[in-house]
Amino acid sequence: DGLVSHGGRRFMSRWSKGPRPFLRMCFGSDSTPFAITTPLFYVNADPHMGSAYTTMATDALSRSLRMSGKKPVMITGCDEHGDKIRMSAEKLGRSPREHCDKVSSEFVSLFDKFGIEYDRFCRTTNPAHETIVLQFMNRVWDNGDIYKSEYEGLYCTGCEEYKDTKDLVNNDECPIHLTRCELRKEENYFFALSKYQNRIEK
Ligand SMILES: [Zn+2]
Repeated sequence: DGLVSHGGRRFMSRWSKGPRPFLRMCFGSDSTPFAITTPLFYVNADPHMGSAYTTMATDALSRSLRMSGKKPVMITGCDEHGDKIRMSAEKLGRSPREHCDKVSSEFVSLFDKFGIEYDRFCRTTNPAHETIVLQFMNRVWDNGDIYKSEYEGLYCTGCEEYKDTKDLVNNDECPIHLTRCELRKEENYFFALSKYQNRIEK
């Protein structure tokens, strides 16, 4: 579940050759800096074993790299955007802000208890994070990769996603939540992934 990422074409060309060159990059003599990140945990609920597991795995990798003289940047943090978070906050009688502050501090204290040596705890509501996302989105927008269109489908609020009709049970119920999916029609912004299809396939 934990992702290992590294910016730039150099990484992509290495990764495309399979995991071995990638591991050599981490453990060999190559001192290219890189980031290791856990998932950014969703703050709709308190941390659980899964949150601890991925973070310990990432921490273990990061520590072994440091011991071999590398300088990985280990990132963890919370994703604080989503309808589900707003609903959890409402249920608990908190404002979304209060709720995010409370739950993300639970993650910080969990990782402290486990002695996780992360370099950055990133909250998606950090002004610095918002600035970077905005810059990135503007680049994508200026590049003409985003277009507006309509999407209609059966939506499960619990999963926060549209479902394929073939995956539903009892006609229109989510197989996970066993609640009825609602027909939603939205005007959305889409990313023109098809523009990059050839490059991705290569
Ligand atoms: Zn569902």
